Amino acid sequence: MGAPSTNDGGKNALLRALPSIEQLLHRPSLEERLSGIPRARAVAALRLAVERVRERLLRGEARPFQDSDVEDALRVLATPNLRPVLNATGVVLHTNLGRAPLAPEAVARVAEVSRGYSNLEYDLDEGERGSRYAPVIELLTGLTGAEDALVVNNCAGAALLVLATLAAGREAIVSRGELVEIGGGFRVPDVMKQSGARLVEVGTTNRTRRSDYESALTPDTGVLMKVHRSNFALVGFTEEVETKELAALGRARGVPVFVDLGSGALVPLTGEGLTDEPTVPATVAAGADVVAFSGDKLLGGPQAGIIVGRAALLARVKKHPLTRALRIDKMTVAALEATLELYRDGRPEAVPTYRLLTQPPESLRARAERLLALLAVKGVKARVAPTSGQVGGGAMPLARLPSFACILTVGGPAAFLEYLREADVPVIGRISDGEVVLDVRCLAEEDLGPVAEAVGAASQGRQPC
Ligand SMILES: *Cc1c(COP(=O)(O)O)cnc(C)c1O
Repeated sequence: MGAPSTNDGGKNALLRALPSIEQLLHRPSLEERLSGIPRARAVAALRLAVERVRERLLRGEARPFQDSDVEDALRVLATPNLRPVLNATGVVLHTNLGRAPLAPEAVARVAEVSRGYSNLEYDLDEGERGSRYAPVIELLTGLTGAEDALVVNNCAGAALLVLATLAAGREAIVSRGELVEIGGGFRVPDVMKQSGARLVEVGTTNRTRRSDYESALTPDTGVLMKVHRSNFALVGFTEEVETKELAALGRARGVPVFVDLGSGALVPLTGEGLTDEPTVPATVAAGADVVAFSGDKLLGGPQAGIIVGRAALLARVKKHPLTRALRIDKMTVAALEATLELYRDGRPEAVPTYRLLTQPPESLRARAERLLALLAVKGVKARVAPTSGQVGGGAMPLARLPSFACILTVGGPAAFLEYLREADVPVIGRISDGEVVLDVRCLAEEDLGPVAEAVGAASQGRQPC
């Protein structure tokens, strides 16, 4: 800290007067509150409290340290940084909000398996080392029609691994119309380059033909790659080579075809507003040799990058050293196995993502009406209106899901959303046309009470008009 200036308005005096941790530990007025709290936690809280007051003083807020600062710090320590929020955005696969919510079956399996030891890499029949992927391979091959499967950390990792295996030091041919940026600034071409593959772009932004791939093929081509456009659509004067046609070309020339499917639905999703999405089984059936897709997009499971395809190619992928670097943990195996079982058992509606995407609009309207009633009890004026939500997570960019929301007209909508984020269970809404929109698509019945509670509190901070 610099030398005290002459016109600090008492700020330096207040800074100097900040109590030490030792003094606070023995302050009689705090004794009762701090008794029964482990000493390390009490010290952490006192440090945080003093630090927060110091920062406020430095910002120019002339308020001395108070005992209530300790109470605030204890509350901060008791609140996990990563915690549940209520998604009132209407976006089902919201990457910022953790993407797919897990089915209760998957959550229970994670708890069961991670609490103690498990047979993660232990073959119980043979009493010897086994494969951590064994529990999900049969489920994945059964559900996709592929010969073999492997699971890594996420789909970007899967694409990296597949390209590193099939095309490191060689050429990977891909259409210019498919070089997407996934989100968060990550671009498929950059991931491809990291694999060591030489990217060969063919076609134009809007049109790529079979002959473009064909004339780019050389003896050094390692793979023909197709990337699902995920978060944008190509409309108008366009042409692309379907997986089936690319697979035929690859077969004729002895070059494997790899499809980065991204969203990766296991079953067709039909419902109001949903658009056609190539499923994993359809992509395998179309002849793709290797397909990669995310575990936490349309599949509705844990974060994972699933790779399915021909046994001979998968055997090579499994031997690549990156497989070890990208391996999944037991919680992912547990959640994925439990989620895949729901599909195997013909119960996709038990997977929250599937259910949230296929809800009929009438039931959404009814839920919005129930939220409206709860808001009225809190004295909050709102109205129910139809909205249009998105799938999110880089899937079905053109789909506009007809949904319903409670709309609030408030003085400062941005500040209102901030209040909602400060609730015990933060509520994440959005602003449309200057109004606060609370879409009910991703809210469960039991979420409506807490949402109304948060809105009630927020409107006391800022009265809706
Ligand atoms: C989303 C997406 C990815 C990345 O998937 P993560 O599981 O988030 O790593 C890769 N490729 C495509 C085409 C995608 O849509």
